Amino acid sequence: MFVSSKSLLEKAREKHYALPAFNTSNLEMSKALFGAAEQMKAPLLVQTTPSSIEYAGLESIFSIIKTLSKNSKIPACIHLDHGRDLGLVKRCTALGYKSVMIDASRLPFNKNAALTRKAVKIAHWRGCSVEAELGSLGRLGKASLTDASQARLFVKKTGCDSLAVAIGTSHGAYKFKGKPKIDLERLREISELVSVPLVLHGASSVDKKLVKKANRYGAKLGHTAGVPMKDLKRAIKLGAAKINIDTDLRLAFTAALREFHAKNPKDFDPRNALEFAGQSVKKVAAEKIRAFGAKNRARG
Ligand SMILES: [Zn+2]
Repeated sequence: MFVSSKSLLEKAREKHYALPAFNTSNLEMSKALFGAAEQMKAPLLVQTTPSSIEYAGLESIFSIIKTLSKNSKIPACIHLDHGRDLGLVKRCTALGYKSVMIDASRLPFNKNAALTRKAVKIAHWRGCSVEAELGSLGRLGKASLTDASQARLFVKKTGCDSLAVAIGTSHGAYKFKGKPKIDLERLREISELVSVPLVLHGASSVDKKLVKKANRYGAKLGHTAGVPMKDLKRAIKLGAAKINIDTDLRLAFTAALREFHAKNPKDFDPRNALEFAGQSVKKVAAEKIRAFGAKNRARG
């Protein structure tokens, strides 16, 4: 069953849990994510970035997720992650996406607000909710963090349904040097002034065990700097209702592929390797659902 993200996220914020939003770009990841949400009886947020849409084809990846959703009992939402222009927002909402992000955080405040406002008009007309972003994640240490009073004004001006905030998390954190410093005090200030659900990007924990496993089977992943789960749990108490998870799923998938091929050198049926990798993604996704308090929330 397809639902909009608005009601799912508002409920999450009100009841102090968060929904992990999982990135997908193929059938195997998508199947694993539905499997995890069903196992945990949790609502499911799956999202596609413009680059995963380019990889899979918009209609193809949408059809996969829509079909999985039709065959599933849990409420699920498909979301456009990091839409940068109105063209893609229009295509996704026309096709049936229930949630879109317009990411104009690279622009100055007024231009960001104006573009976001336009996206809100396009999306709301189709019953689709909108996530916007204020502040920029950038690379570790160079981020320009979200200001609380600006955030309040931004939400009022744009009518966005949820807001991604920059409080020190970073995309693909494992690639960078240094440790992320999460500014929870800033999140508390934003949360006091902004009533819409807040969104954290770049929030994978980057499980050291997964990195080690990948490296054991030939990967050369170096530094790891994920966001500690204890920080995420505090952020959830402070109003973070959607937490994006991409890196951890990629790690789980590729580490398992490596493990499968190393242990089964004579198996050349891709389905066996992909099924094994999918199981690993399912496990990681289920752990996130549990850790964020979203287990058993499929019925509210
Ligand atoms: Zn992001």
